[in-house]
Amino acid sequence: MPLRPDSLVNTLRRTTQNAGAVWRALPIALPVVTLAAWMAGGETGLLVAALLLPVLLLVQRGALPDAPRRAPTDSDGLTGLLLPAAFGRKMAALARSLPQSGRTTAVFSIRIDGFAQIRDTHGDQDADAVLRYTADRIRGALRSDDLVARSGDATFLIALDPVRLLDLESALQLAVRLQTAIEEPVPLRRASILSTSSIGFCLASRLRDATATTLTQSAEMAMNEARRAGDSNIRAYTADMRHRVTTRRKTEGEAARTLDRDQIRAWYQPQISTDTGQVTGFEVLARWEHPTRGILAPHEFLAVLSQTGQMARLADFMLSQALNAIRAWDEAGLNVPTVGVNFSGDELRSPSLLDRVRWELDRTDLDPARLTVEILENVIAGAPDDMVVRNVEALAGLGCTIDLDDFGTGHASISSIRRLPIARLKIDRSFVTHVDTDPEQQRMIAAIVTMAERLGLETLAEGVEHAGEHTMLSQLGCRHVQGFGIARPMPFADTLGWIEKHRARVCTPPQIRRKSG
Ligand code: C2E
Ligand code: CA
Ligand code: CA
Repeated sequence: MPLRPDSLVNTLRRTTQNAGAVWRALPIALPVVTLAAWMAGGETGLLVAALLLPVLLLVQRGALPDAPRRAPTDSDGLTGLLLPAAFGRKMAALARSLPQSGRTTAVFSIRIDGFAQIRDTHGDQDADAVLRYTADRIRGALRSDDLVARSGDATFLIALDPVRLLDLESALQLAVRLQTAIEEPVPLRRASILSTSSIGFCLASRLRDATATTLTQSAEMAMNEARRAGDSNIRAYTADMRHRVTTRRKTEGEAARTLDRDQIRAWYQPQISTDTGQVTGFEVLARWEHPTRGILAPHEFLAVLSQTGQMARLADFMLSQALNAIRAWDEAGLNVPTVGVNFSGDELRSPSLLDRVRWELDRTDLDPARLTVEILENVIAGAPDDMVVRNVEALAGLGCTIDLDDFGTGHASISSIRRLPIARLKIDRSFVTHVDTDPEQQRMIAAIVTMAERLGLETLAEGVEHAGEHTMLSQLGCRHVQGFGIARPMPFADTLGWIEKHRARVCTPPQIRRKSG
């Protein structure tokens, strides 16, 4: 088989690779080799040696260990942007030049929101296309001297070429420009992909010691704060952001151990009937009794408990506290018909949920009708998980009441509400606030109440803060109310006194004032 010229060169290279010393000596030995070739082969030998030796020498130059090697690549193969190491080097030089030049810069950190899901849904090829488009769009929004790197799967870093003046306003405008460009639909073979991005940035002027590392870390911290706020957000780094993040990290570390340390408490918030004014139930809400910071609300610890797989433990604890409370109210002769417990989506997907609820009801010897299970509307929106459907049906089958929590915020379809054995819609606070003065809110509540009546469901409005809202909700036909206007959540011990006082208030007949004179 004829050898192609490049494969011949490669073969020669390979054979020479292990003989570095011999090859290095070849130029010195050239006259001897030529003479030997002439003696051995006469003129033909001389000709062959004269033609072949220069070729061998050229090949050898490329094969020897001290031959110059190709420089390692600085750019990402997919996007053509800088790789993190190269960005770090260039950024360090840029940061070092700032003090003498009297110029300043800003570093931006960008992340495509939910990129793992884009890859899962659309596949690698389309996901890579999104990255390429994003890289081009970032480049297109910047000047050619600005540094741009792909710093992770779907994250990017930018360092602006130093300028004399750079204030917060212009950096923010640039961030908005970048975000707008990135969030343009990405046209692909079959359809377009819409994605959003989170952007954080740090002005060098905001740092006492602006090095490549501090600038990059601060921009990334701002980007993570933007992510926490939800998709498509922008945040600028500030000194108190670092303090906040450090405190939060510490709190999160502690939060993961709240259950082990026995620091979770069950608090109770009453619900009353708009017809009779009587207590119709209490919702049990988790609180963290922090050793130094006092009582903390669920947003300080729920996410950490969920990330660390402890929601089932929380639900068990809250359920047993709630049922203990019902027993204690019964024993005190206080008529509290039901107690509501919040079950997270994770919890509702648990195959052991039903057994655990049944076990707790047996332990306290309570009728299942005394337990209301609160399910967030977004858990049943779309196509609810089979396990969620099974659990909800089984809990209702047992005799528990099912409340659809935060109703109006989670896009549950009427068919999913009908398919599940839901008894009551818990209308979200966003529809309740200012319902007494805002006609738009009144129309919304009226529509929800009408729909609930047609579907045979009860209604409970939450977040009722004022007497005016309470009255209007009652007039619009809402059957139950809950909120600060009735009472704030309280520890169990306080519920006893509160119920007594509330009863006395409801039973006291309105005072009839006689006209004087
Ligand atoms: P949620 O179930 O919607 O609970 C109602 C939240 O609204 C409670 O906040 C309550 O304190 C607050 N609230 C009640 N009335 C008013 C009012 O008139 N005005 C205002 N502004 N707020 C009012 P909290 O206790 O901070 O709970 C927040 C969320 O945390 C709860 O929202 C619930 O989704 C979740 N949560 C609380 N405890 C648990 C739990 O044990 N398990 C699970 N899975 N989630 C829980
Ligand atoms: Ca709730
Ligand atoms: Ca709610």
